[in-house]
Amino acid sequence: MKIHAQRGTKDILPDEAFLFQYVDDVFKETCHAFGFQEIRVPTFEATELFARGVGDASDIVSKEMYTFEDRGGRSITLRPEGTAGVVRAFIEHGMTSLPLPVKLFYNLNCFRYESVQKGRYREFWQLGCETFGPESPEADAEMILLLDRFFQTLGLKEVALEINNIGCPVCRPQYLAALKDYFAPHLSDMCGDCHERFERNVLRIIDCKVDACQTVVKDSPLQEAYLCADCKEHKATLEHRLDSLGVKYRVNGRIVRGLDYYTRTVFEFISEHVGTQGTICGGGRYDGLVETLGGPAVPGVGFAMGIERLLMELKATNTPLPTPSKRDLYILCFPDTRDAAATLVYALRSEGVGADFDIMDRSFRAQMKYAGKGDYLALIVLGEDEVKSGMAKLKWLDSGDEIESSLSADLLATHFYSKEA
Ligand SMILES: [Zn+2]
Ligand SMILES: [Zn+2]
Repeated sequence: MKIHAQRGTKDILPDEAFLFQYVDDVFKETCHAFGFQEIRVPTFEATELFARGVGDASDIVSKEMYTFEDRGGRSITLRPEGTAGVVRAFIEHGMTSLPLPVKLFYNLNCFRYESVQKGRYREFWQLGCETFGPESPEADAEMILLLDRFFQTLGLKEVALEINNIGCPVCRPQYLAALKDYFAPHLSDMCGDCHERFERNVLRIIDCKVDACQTVVKDSPLQEAYLCADCKEHKATLEHRLDSLGVKYRVNGRIVRGLDYYTRTVFEFISEHVGTQGTICGGGRYDGLVETLGGPAVPGVGFAMGIERLLMELKATNTPLPTPSKRDLYILCFPDTRDAAATLVYALRSEGVGADFDIMDRSFRAQMKYAGKGDYLALIVLGEDEVKSGMAKLKWLDSGDEIESSLSADLLATHFYSKEA
């Protein structure tokens, strides 16, 4: 019986892996320019971390987690997102006493038991950043500017930024009460999930995808009318910084984000490309999260973005992407020049040239055929004459150009790179 990849998982083959690497590289360079440092955290954590950090009432925790008991009887969960683990690490390693802000970025695989029919993956990759320390909206603006820079570097167009302020522990209770007053008489028209959200976290009703619920949601009260003075100022300062740096945005009072930990600023980068509309990246401020997870009261702001979704967007919008380059150099040999070929190949590899030779015990003719099909830029035929004279021709396959060179690896490497440059 053949064994297949699990439902909702995907093999990333070399051509696709090349694109993942490209996106990773651009992200890493952008994070570097903004002063962020990489963090890597474990794939699995105590289930309680996500129950507390992401929120019991969220769809992620209540429906989508890969949770199991390990052989020691502990409840373990494969991370469904990156932030909770990063916050745990931040607390656990005493980073709260480092000079603040602490600015971290990550590139992690995450796991959610998602509906495969909707084209979602159960293992997927996320890029994200977290800044710990600043209460100032400068930190929120910096996150948004980092993403703006990242999308510009990738050449991604047709993306719009939407921002909102969902209040703080001071002003949100009044807003939630107003939402409850508003939704209560409409509940009989709304879905079962929303009945539960009404009891556990009424804000989440705004995100419900069911048409009947959206009909009710569209006239619901907005947080803006309930913001406290501090939240109003936070909102105004963020908007001022985005304006002063020329970042375009829309204020959208209906963005609440899917996770329970957000406070004040939430934002989304949305695709405006026909056919791929939807959120490409989302984030916001989570001032209570470090405390919720057992640390001191340290504010935070962050975002996360799925790489698969981003690549889909880059392809759908015909954004120019790099293509994998050909392999460098193939050395053809005969049985009695095999040793010399091996010596030359390993010497070239030490010079950084991607050199290959036959490791299939093939005839010269079959090697020739392979070199042609194998996508090499250049080749060298290493016969008895070449070994004796110490000279060989370096031949480019596309143009047919040749250079006669001594067989020393550093000279060959110099010839190879001068041509390629
Ligand atoms: Zn407030
Ligand atoms: Zn609903």
